[in-house]
Amino acid sequence: MRILITGANRGLGLALSQAGAERGHQILAGVRDLQTSTERLMQSEVYKSISLLPLDVTDEESVSSAANAVKENFGTIDVIINNAGVLLERDKQIEDLDLDQVKVTFDVNFFGPIKVVKHFLPLLMMGDRSSIINISSESGSMSNAFGGDYAYASSKTALNMFTLQLNQYVKNKNINVYSVHPGWIKTDMGGDRAPGNPIDTAKGIFDIIEGKREIGSSNVFITYEGQPMPL
Ligand code: NDP
Repeated sequence: MRILITGANRGLGLALSQAGAERGHQILAGVRDLQTSTERLMQSEVYKSISLLPLDVTDEESVSSAANAVKENFGTIDVIINNAGVLLERDKQIEDLDLDQVKVTFDVNFFGPIKVVKHFLPLLMMGDRSSIINISSESGSMSNAFGGDYAYASSKTALNMFTLQLNQYVKNKNINVYSVHPGWIKTDMGGDRAPGNPIDTAKGIFDIIEGKREIGSSNVFITYEGQPMPL
């Protein structure tokens, strides 16, 4: 399968690119900084199946150019993984909240996936294995509000609603749409204390993409192991 991954240069995105290429998929790795990304992604033994694509999800021009480049060079894709994300302003009191940072959070975590789907959906093949995976978080679950996480949690809740709305739109087109909680994993965002590692999460997500997990047809918010999450 041909798979677009955003934020592919580090963390979960890098693990997804490597795990996907190792499973024989062709990876279109969306990155903001081509030079550092090339070095990292080229360390992979399967780098020949990874193509780098300049892609800043906050910039619609960049997203549109990336989609045009993919159309010209590859024609179609089978899967979109909206992985790029930022975690800002956590544990802030409302009185101290920097609204510009809240906007950046929504720009990347919510408007980013919308822009990517807007421009890449016309290239998505319709078939049993076609899917759109929005990397979400348990923080976005409406039944999981611990407090102090105004920006990130709200952006992921909004992303989950986008997933639901999109699912309604494409469900007759044979395209699976999921919001996926990747677990708490060791990355720059997750930190060193995280119990999980991104490679295990990436493998779980590819099991979902490859149809190796039984997922109830009404479940759109799931863990990387395919278990339902409360919206
Ligand atoms: P990292 O901070 O390690 O990596 C974030 C990635 O997003 C980087 O590749 C970064 O690129 C990219 N990115 C940020 N802004 C943009 C942008 N404007 N355009 C394109 N790419 C951008 O995070 P993780 O790998 O941990 O997170 C991946 C996803 O998993 C996120 O959606 C996150 O919310 C989610 N998640 C992570 C958890 C964890 O425990 N780590 C838990 C729950 C959810 P660059 O290097 O250029 O900045």
